[in-house]
Amino acid sequence: MELSIVVPCYNESESIIEFHEGLSTALKNTKITNEIIFIDDGSKDDTVNKVEELRKKDKNVKLISFSRNFGKEAAMLAGLKHAGGKYTAIMDADLQHTPDVLIDMYKRLKEEINYDCVCAYKSSREDEKPIKRTLTSIFYRISNKVSDIKLLPGASDFRVFTSAVKEAIISLPEKKRFLKGMFSWVGFNTIYIPYMPEKRMYGKTNWSLLKLIWYSLGGIISFSVKPLKLIFLLGVFTFIVGFLNFILLGNLSNRTIILFVSFIMLSFGVIALYISRIYNNVLGRPTYIIKKKIGFKD
Ligand code: UDP
Ligand code: MG
Repeated sequence: MELSIVVPCYNESESIIEFHEGLSTALKNTKITNEIIFIDDGSKDDTVNKVEELRKKDKNVKLISFSRNFGKEAAMLAGLKHAGGKYTAIMDADLQHTPDVLIDMYKRLKEEINYDCVCAYKSSREDEKPIKRTLTSIFYRISNKVSDIKLLPGASDFRVFTSAVKEAIISLPEKKRFLKGMFSWVGFNTIYIPYMPEKRMYGKTNWSLLKLIWYSLGGIISFSVKPLKLIFLLGVFTFIVGFLNFILLGNLSNRTIILFVSFIMLSFGVIALYISRIYNNVLGRPTYIIKKKIGFKD
């Protein structure tokens, strides 16, 4: 089989039929052999039933259903692990990613023999609120400064890639996953194409601002220990300032003490983030639990 399309879905009952219609029509014109793997990420609505209905009409449709909501990262991982195509694609079920663009991305990848991945990136953030735009730009600036990996601002999970890339991503064992960072970490040559996602027609985005901030912070923690090194430098700095203060004035002013205490609390916070990572990995719980699978051989 040529192309596996991995589609994470969480409460996408309203979009799923239209999504499948659009995608299968676009695929039909190309004759690319394919499978469409819907990963139901513990939806509380009718998503699973709708996918099962689709499966009755279209044998390329497959379903993996989770026992509860594990998050889009987990859903994408499950999809990749079950994908059997020479090429794999990831796209959202909410009609924000256009099937024709996906097919163009696939064709482009086939043409360019030196490349292993095509990634759509959001070329403009005009549609977003100023606060989100500002925070996003701060995130990319900090992340690209402190991380060992480089992220292209706006790079999305809307991608097509070879099975070598897929295997590399699957081989990363971490429990808290940040796929954008992983794609960058595993290397390979990537073609970036500018793309503006469509507006969400039904349902709502699952991302609140707070969720995005935590996710982004996690992304930085996953690919850098520089925040820990910064704590050490902060310690050296406060030690020197404190020591001089003590020698010259004989004591520390209240303001200096408050500042130092806040440095300590901040440092604890950063260390806590890393400890929580270690904790999650040591527990070794699975990233997701599958309740039901339809369309797979095993
Ligand atoms: N999604 C998921 N699990 C979640 C949240 C989202 O599988 O916990 C899916 C969702 O159904 C959609 C895709 O991930 O197909 C993108 O989600 P969303 O539209 O909320 O994100 P945005 O487009 O705003 O980045
Ligand atoms: Mg969306």
